[in-house]
Amino acid sequence: MVFGLFKKTDPICGMKEEKGKGITKHGQWFCNESCLRKYEAGEEKDEKKHEGSCCCH
Ligand SMILES: [Zn+2]
Repeated sequence: MVFGLFKKTDPICGMKEEKGKGITKHGQWFCNESCLRKYEAGEEKDEKKHEGSCCCH
């Protein structure tokens, strides 16, 4: 996997960090609270699912 080394990436939807937006928690960046909740609810899951889009335009 190749992710930017300088910016954090939302582990749920793969969106790249945008300054002034989102939430930083658990050492991760989330584009919104929805992704944060998914992360907290499914931390044990390794797989990244791309079903639908929570936030992408
Ligand atoms: Zn997201």
